[in-house]
Amino acid sequence: MSTGLDVNKSIVILGGGTAGWITANAMIDRWGDRGVDITLIESPDIGTVGVGEGSTPRLKLFLDDIGVEEREWMPPCKATYKNGISFVNWSTKPGFERYFHPFASQVDRFTTTAFFYNTLARRKGADVHAHPDRYSLTARLSENRQGPIPGENFPFENDYGYHFDAQLLGEYLRDIARSRGVRHLPARVTGVNQAPEGDITSLSIEQGDPVEGDFFIDCSGFRGALIQQALKVPFRSFAENLFNDSAVVLPTGQAESIGSQTVSTALRYGWAWEIPLTHRIGNGYVYSSAFCSAEDAETELRGFLGLLDSDVEARHLKMNVGRLESHWHRNCLAVGLSQGFIEPLEATALNIVCNTVYRFMEVIDADGGFGGEGRNLFNDKVNDEFESVRDYIVAHYVLNSRRDTAYWVQNAQSQNLSPTLRRILEIWASGQNLSQAIESKQLRSSYTPRSWYCLLAGYGYFPDIKPDAAGAEMQQKIDMADVDEFVRRCALNFRPQNELLRFAPRAHTKTA
Ligand SMILES: Cc1cc2nc3c(=O)[nH]c(=O)nc-3n(C[C@H](O)[C@H](O)[C@H](O)COP(=O)(O)OP(=O)(O)OC[C@H]3O[C@@H](n4cnc5c(N)ncnc54)[C@H](O)[C@@H]3O)c2cc1C
Repeated sequence: MSTGLDVNKSIVILGGGTAGWITANAMIDRWGDRGVDITLIESPDIGTVGVGEGSTPRLKLFLDDIGVEEREWMPPCKATYKNGISFVNWSTKPGFERYFHPFASQVDRFTTTAFFYNTLARRKGADVHAHPDRYSLTARLSENRQGPIPGENFPFENDYGYHFDAQLLGEYLRDIARSRGVRHLPARVTGVNQAPEGDITSLSIEQGDPVEGDFFIDCSGFRGALIQQALKVPFRSFAENLFNDSAVVLPTGQAESIGSQTVSTALRYGWAWEIPLTHRIGNGYVYSSAFCSAEDAETELRGFLGLLDSDVEARHLKMNVGRLESHWHRNCLAVGLSQGFIEPLEATALNIVCNTVYRFMEVIDADGGFGGEGRNLFNDKVNDEFESVRDYIVAHYVLNSRRDTAYWVQNAQSQNLSPTLRRILEIWASGQNLSQAIESKQLRSSYTPRSWYCLLAGYGYFPDIKPDAAGAEMQQKIDMADVDEFVRRCALNFRPQNELLRFAPRAHTKTA
């Protein structure tokens, strides 16, 4: 049973990509029995971006929230479980050529102290094991191609994300939303009609009457048809320290044993993703067009995938990296690529989509309407999330130790770091307690201390080992054999991804 005020509003969503259908489902689920009327308009001729196949655990929270079960949605969307992301060849430091960024596990609490202790010792020059992977259960699970869900007798849980076919997930969410009362209008929007003071009143469509509404949601993708084109909300580019603006995409066949991690491999002018689905592997190369032509990028990706002689067609995309100055302006909210995009290195776009929509609904419910009382605070919070994700992504580039191309050299020399990122790097490098600085909110980050430690230690961002240095007394206090044995025994409770994906058919209850 729902609580709160009635939402007697007609909401018009423009765009039927993943952002549009997530928004429609979230709103019909929360406000469906409180008088809300939702119409989603999508052009049959303008496609969706059709990429975006990896998620964070936020997608699971969303699907749980709207009551969609894994056994229902995962098979038709060709989805797999994701423990985290492996970063390969971002660092050239011996022993640190790859590392894993895990989603959180309740088991982490037993290894974090040892991991953090050793990274501190290593920052002080002690010769200890400070690579993150050995302390991480989910790194081990990913290496073994095991899924993130334990057997019944294991009392600890892992957070996890998914890999999925973006097109199929969009269609799946569309069907759910329609079945729950969202009106779906396939039509191309040709004009945005505004009242004299600037609010949007209706959207003109190619055929038929304009579609009126009280509130409009722009999910029209990079074009930002409402918020950018009509309402002229400025876009703030992140190009000064995120150089990548293009991608080329090429699918390959699935391996017999399906992986349970995204793999992100640094190439000459960017990085390639590898996302295992049940029917194929999604691959793409995200690169900077200032350093590499589309043709060269495709050739490099083909070479990397062993597809130089293959006639599988590649798809090329442009990316607009940055964010809007405000995401909620007048009677319009932007969600998805229309509100901004940070390149997909940590697969954060749908995370921001979900957070934006749920944060918005909370403000509306708390303030009792769409009048805009909480708008400034809302915009600040969404902007904080964008900046925080940007800082974490920028750290991957600025810390790289590759020197094979001007692209990597210039990334490492970037001077455009935010004060927060500068401070994080300073605290780490000077051997202070970064974890405490983040937890005490002295530094604002949407990433946990463990995520930062994995990144910084995973790159081998340490001084040279100095046996006589201050950290020498911290030497070898942690018995790594104990850590290894603990992680090994925990991993015995998890099944291979392939097995986990064999969902038992639903039991049908007989009706009399
Ligand atoms: C290379 C790349 C990799 C990515 N990887 C990830 C990832 O791993 N994880 C992740 O979370 N995200 C990722 N993303 C982002 C993710 O793809 C998007 O956030 C997500 O798909 C949502 O897109 P969207 O719905 O905002 O826009 P789109 O998919 O572009 O949808 C736009 C919709 O608007 C409609 N439309 C536009 N104009 C009109 C009009 N005039 N009239 C009617 N309809 C109109 C279109 O028909 C379409 O339905 C990636 C993005 C890129 C570019």
